[in-house]
Amino acid sequence: MNAVSLLCDIIGQAGKVAAQAYRDDARYGALLDAGLLQGDGLVQSVLCESCDVPHDAEIVFEGGSYGYFCPDLGLVSVERADLVAVRPDLAALVEHLHAAFECQPGGISQLGPQTWRVGLVDTPGGRAVVYFHTCLQTDDDLVSLGNALRAEIRRDYVLVVSAAGQLPYRDASICNLAEMVQVDLGAARLRKIVSVAEAVGAPPRPTGGRPSVYRERLHSLLADRVAQGVAEDGRNAEADAVLAAYVARFPHDPAPSRVTVQRSVSKFRTGS
Ligand SMILES: [Zn+2]
Repeated sequence: MNAVSLLCDIIGQAGKVAAQAYRDDARYGALLDAGLLQGDGLVQSVLCESCDVPHDAEIVFEGGSYGYFCPDLGLVSVERADLVAVRPDLAALVEHLHAAFECQPGGISQLGPQTWRVGLVDTPGGRAVVYFHTCLQTDDDLVSLGNALRAEIRRDYVLVVSAAGQLPYRDASICNLAEMVQVDLGAARLRKIVSVAEAVGAPPRPTGGRPSVYRERLHSLLADRVAQGVAEDGRNAEADAVLAAYVARFPHDPAPSRVTVQRSVSKFRTGS
């Protein structure tokens, strides 16, 4: 249960959302505690589910209480508490990410409406720059990212963390926010699941050869799946299947992270 997946869901809605839908979700409280969500007045419309045809309805304030008009039911009253809205605090999120990825001091900057520079991280293979971009689902999202990064200094590695969608962008590594960090419940902060070095594919520090074991085993599993005609078309779907196959075949060995498997799928497919 990663509360960050709920945050991704809310960021993907690109605006304020009614808190009422989430009040009973433990993940919602964790996000509030960490300052990743903030109150933002009241919602302006609701979905009427009281009649036969669900419809959106604008909130009105009549006779000292809140409600909306339904064509079937007339004026339907709504508790004020059910209209409280929250929105993601993206500036707070970026501060959290900066700390979680152990970036060098400073460097946080908003570069565009959807884009922040989170900071710089030294990896064994060179310097990586980390960006947060809200969504990578449409061509407009890619244009917005391109505009924001136009004046940025080129680094050895580029990591773009996004809350929704993983459209490819130039030679940046794209990772989903919920796959990179989770909420550390006791401390009300974010903790990394995957390091920046791993996410960008920087050469690992010498640790006794485990990365090359992963690489060889994953390559062999991927080749087997192609030979058997069971390889998935989608990179992420194939990575999930290969990770499951890895765990099944080597149940007593540590498993590679999902990001490592995704990268193996990409490398296998491009022959690099
Ligand atoms: Zn209705």
